[in-house]
Amino acid sequence: MRLSQLFTKTTRNVPADETAKNAQLLIRAGFIHKEMAGVYAYLPLGLRVLENIKQIVREEMDAIGGQELIMTSLQRKELWETTDRWDDKQVDVWFKSQLKNGTAVGLAWSHEEPITAMMKNYLSSYRDLPAYAYQFQTKLRNELRAKSGIMRGREFVMKDLYSYSRSEAEHQKFYDAVTAAYMKVFKRVGLGDSTFFTLASGGAFTQFSHEFQTVSEAGEDTIYLNKAKKIAINKEVLSDEVLKQLAVKRDELEEVEAAEVGNIFNFGTSKSEQLGLYFTDEDGKQQPVVLGSYGIGITRLAGVIAEHFADDKGLVWPEAVAPAKVYLARLGNDAKVVKQADDLYERLTAGGVQVLYDDRDARPGEKFADADLLGIPYRLVISDKTVAGDHYELKARTEDTARQVSQGELLKTLAVKA
Ligand code: ATP
Ligand code: MG
Repeated sequence: MRLSQLFTKTTRNVPADETAKNAQLLIRAGFIHKEMAGVYAYLPLGLRVLENIKQIVREEMDAIGGQELIMTSLQRKELWETTDRWDDKQVDVWFKSQLKNGTAVGLAWSHEEPITAMMKNYLSSYRDLPAYAYQFQTKLRNELRAKSGIMRGREFVMKDLYSYSRSEAEHQKFYDAVTAAYMKVFKRVGLGDSTFFTLASGGAFTQFSHEFQTVSEAGEDTIYLNKAKKIAINKEVLSDEVLKQLAVKRDELEEVEAAEVGNIFNFGTSKSEQLGLYFTDEDGKQQPVVLGSYGIGITRLAGVIAEHFADDKGLVWPEAVAPAKVYLARLGNDAKVVKQADDLYERLTAGGVQVLYDDRDARPGEKFADADLLGIPYRLVISDKTVAGDHYELKARTEDTARQVSQGELLKTLAVKA
């Protein structure tokens, strides 16, 4: 991608009401556009980050047997009435609307009800089970407060997976597989050491659910954490009983702020019974299907990553999610410089490396500041000086100084394919 052709631009102007660091940086870098509080558009570079995160999640969900689909955003009132989740007193984030003929519809804030009702078409025998379906979808939630930038949207992208199992034991096995897959996801996006499997409230069948909490000052949750023992408890469920169950003492736990990046949930057979999802077991008996529900906030995760790695110069993306691996800064318009930069851009791109090519007619200081603000892992400079010296100038985003490298070293460091 050539920056001379990218329509977005970096800016110093951030909406006055935007107080969250993640959104401030993402707006300044041109990754997102704020439409209104809690509602953001994802611009080309921001979309690349989301797509990279989604791809990591997709690979891990596919690896445990997940099958991707997309449910609808318009939902039937009757389904949610059946499970007593239509009333605003039960679910306080609903956006609701109606068809021309007056029929009420809900705008999707979650999907347990419609997907479980839909599964009645496909799951009726023990032979059809277990089944695992997931999607990436824009959820709409009328959140009371939206002050955390993209970490709390009124419109946001979630990965939600639903598991349908024959028994509690079969369910538990998959629940554990999802737990492991989620940890792989958080590790791959660079948050492995700061994300904890956390005991939390909720759960229709069990008393608790589990959250994945990333330690972050920007998070809205408080958790009690013992890093060494990898024990984390959401403040909302901290009690003597819970401490005893986890064999940990209160004074072994540290109170920290955290952001919930994922949540996994056992619904037991409650929803299947309400919505009529039964299967015939090996003895010919009708049994309700066991439902599990597993979310990851994709856009929240992007915000948490932005917050976690940012420094005083701007964003710092881990390679796995960065919108490009290399920021190629061409300094000056000398024919030799242009030729070498153009050639290198082609060479890197052909070798499977994503490059943001700063071919704009701008001052070096401006290019360097943008390279830092955008948070691209490597900055590569081509100038009169480097052409004359027959070397390149390479700097990792996390390093303070650039070093001179030969072409061979460059291709090796960037893992450019032959
Ligand atoms: P929270 O307590 O933060 O409101 P939740 O319990 O309502 O979250 P779930 O319904 O379990 O969240 O949604 C699954 C995941 O989606 C959450 O773990 C979180 O990562 C993400 N998420 C939830 N609400 C939002 C939101 N308003 N904006 C962005 N991501 C969200
Ligand atoms: Mg919520």
